[in-house]
Amino acid sequence: MLIGLLGGGQLGRMLALAGSTLGLRFRALDHNAEAPVRTVAELITAEFDDLNALERFAEGLDVASFEFENVPAESVRFLNERVPVFPPPEALEWGQDRLLEKSFFQRLGIQTARFSAVRSIQDLERSAGEIGLPAVLKTRRLGYDGRGQFILRTEEDISTAWNSIGSPLLILESFVPFERELSILAVRGRKGDTAFYPVVENRHEAGILRLSLAPAPGLSAALQASAEDYAIRVLEALDYVGLLAIEFFLYEGQLYANEFAPRVHNSGHWTIEGAETSQFENHLRAILGLPLGSTAALGHSAMINLIGTLPDPIAVLEMKDTHLHLYDKAPRPGRKLGHITIRRPDPESREIAVVQIHNLLRG
Ligand code: AMP
Repeated sequence: MLIGLLGGGQLGRMLALAGSTLGLRFRALDHNAEAPVRTVAELITAEFDDLNALERFAEGLDVASFEFENVPAESVRFLNERVPVFPPPEALEWGQDRLLEKSFFQRLGIQTARFSAVRSIQDLERSAGEIGLPAVLKTRRLGYDGRGQFILRTEEDISTAWNSIGSPLLILESFVPFERELSILAVRGRKGDTAFYPVVENRHEAGILRLSLAPAPGLSAALQASAEDYAIRVLEALDYVGLLAIEFFLYEGQLYANEFAPRVHNSGHWTIEGAETSQFENHLRAILGLPLGSTAALGHSAMINLIGTLPDPIAVLEMKDTHLHLYDKAPRPGRKLGHITIRRPDPESREIAVVQIHNLLRG
């Protein structure tokens, strides 16, 4: 079987690595000739909107998927006329625009921060008055890892933010003074079968994920059930096939959905060693119509992203039960270059190992 992937980053690389044990082959399309997938899949180097390249890419594929959220939806539709694409292109479209995404959550009865569309400085002033400050101004499209965001704390910030953000299509959201950030990974197969991983706690710095703890420490069964209930609503509304991630804020005991990602997700990397079946394998099982694998956690895992620079690999590997993943990317500030996963029998020893890794990373 030959699987096509739009996007050839580390997510594509880990999909191809997971699929190789199932005897699958991969072809990726990415604009970067040095994309991390290049050593584990055939790589077509082209822009996503190059229709001739998409035609070549589609030739002989059994099924296609995407690992990058900002692939143009038209390209995915073009591909879908030639080969089945999962998740459905609608999932990509709803997720690409923060305003549509939040409206979609709202329609499904899923709680979010208060929000308002902003197209002008007058809109922004009015919305800030209605929503109140602090609030977060975000570009509706193409924002990720905290890019294209501005926190408004005082009225003076309104014009500064408007002048600096440089996009006319914006959303203003109330600032949620969350206790924790959480995410759920859910998977739905071609027959509508579903499975859910334990909810994960995520810690970000400067908008970039640094650490995931899986399962989230001390999370109640009620919150797990609530996250699963929200995930089912999204999966069914989209007739979704594949792996889906939803990110939440936990505030005053309630989940507020922030965004969803219609793809495998950074907060699920721990599943490679920390779950019975990894998110990557389950995504492939889902899109191929195979039975889904168990999502049970094996012990208590932590995933630490390696951002910008890499530690001495020997020092990492010398630590007990520690797994190092390197994405074969050139170091650059703010760039995700790899991750470390540790698995321990209980939350306390996981906590100790996380401190050890942080000390090691600080040198
Ligand atoms: P996003 O690009 O929406 O995932 O935002 C990146 C990070 O910014 C989130 O993980 C939060 O840490 C923070 N953030 C985004 N939106 C809000 C909000 N409405 N209230 C508080 N923090 C936020």
